[in-house]
Order: sequence, then C-alpha cells, then structure tokens
Amino acid sequence: MENVGDVLICGAGPVGLLTAIGLARRGIRVTVIDGEPAVVQSPRATGYFPPTLELIAEFGFYEDLSARAFLSHELKLHFRLIGEIVDGRVVFNIAGNKYRLVVWINYTYRVVYMRFVGTHRQYDNIDAQTV
Ligand SMILES: Cc1cc2nc3c(=O)[nH]c(=O)nc-3n(C[C@H](O)[C@H](O)[C@H](O)COP(=O)(O)OP(=O)(O)OC[C@H]3O[C@@H](n4cnc5c(N)ncnc54)[C@H](O)[C@@H]3O)c2cc1C
Repeated sequence: MENVGDVLICGAGPVGLLTAIGLARRGIRVTVIDGEPAVVQSPRATGYFPPTLELIAEFGFYEDLSARAFLSHELKLHFRLIGEIVDGRVVFNIAGNKYRLVVWINYTYRVVYMRFVGTHRQYDNIDAQTV
C-alpha cells in the first residue's frame, strides 16, 4: 500500500479517529481505513459521560458537540418536578410524588421512551435502571 503516510490506522471508530487526530496535530501523516463502507447508522453514542466529555474537550470538540446535544442537566431546568436521573433514565414525580414516571431518553434522536408509569408503591418494586 503506497502513500499511507507514517501511520496506518485500521478502524474508524472513536479510538481510531481520535488517535488519527492526535497524531495529525503533531504533524504525523496518518491514513485511516475501515471495513465498513459507510458510517454505521444504529446509534452507539446516545449519551456521553463526564470522562468522555473531558477527552472531547481536550480535543477541542466540546463546544460543537454541546451545541448539537441535549444536556441532561437541562432537564432540571425544563421540568421542576423531576425526581432523579439514573443511568440515562429519568424519573418524574407526579401529583405530589403519588405517581412516578420513568423514561429513557435517546438524546441523539431526541426520542423519549416511556418505560414505566405507576404508583409510588409499584415504583418501589421495579428497578428504574433496567425497567
Ligand atoms: C448498541 C450500542 C450502543 C452504544 N451506546 C453508547 C453510548 O450511548 N455512549 C457511549 O459512550 N458508548 C456507547 N457504546 C459504546 C461505544 O460505541 C464504544 O465504546 C466505542 O465505539 C468503542 O470505540 P472503538 O474505536 O474502540 O471501536 P469501534 O467503535 O467498534 O470501532 C472499530 C472500527 O473498526 C472497524 N474494523 C474492525 N475490524 C476491522 C478490520 N478487520 N478491518 C477494517 N476495519 C475494521 C469497524 O468497522 C469499526 O468502525 C455503544 C455501543 C453499542 C454496540
């Protein structure tokens, strides 16, 4: 294979691409190849956790990303009666906490999946993280 530069990276996932960017910024010529013909369309990054965001900030993409994203703390601003946020699931307290609603939010596609609605007592018998 000719003209691949100094480094050939196999795999255009986050690890391959960030490595390529890091090397390119240091003046190293990089070629990235991938077995897939196009970007995979099934969502695999619906949510980013703080360590990932720190890395993204280090690479200088945080502003761009957050401008397109829905930040989970914004939920607290929009919905005063929100309960807690557990592993991507959001628990709403309804009617003075008599009822509870659990939703899972796909932030990328801005779709909300209702996972549970019931009384507080019924809520105590489910696992909000897996329901
Ligand atoms: C359904 C699903 C949902 C997920 N949701 C989230 C989420 O919300 N938040 C989050 O942070 N993480 C999520 N993840 C995890 C995240 O996708 C992975 O941690 C991340 O993609 C790993 O990055 P990677 O670069 O190591 O590998 P990958 O992303 O798997 O990239 C590897 C690349 O190498 C290519 N490749 C492999 N073998 C070859 C070969 N022999 N020749 C050429 N190319 C090859 C593949 O086509 C692929 O593009 C999810 C994963 C899945 C499966």
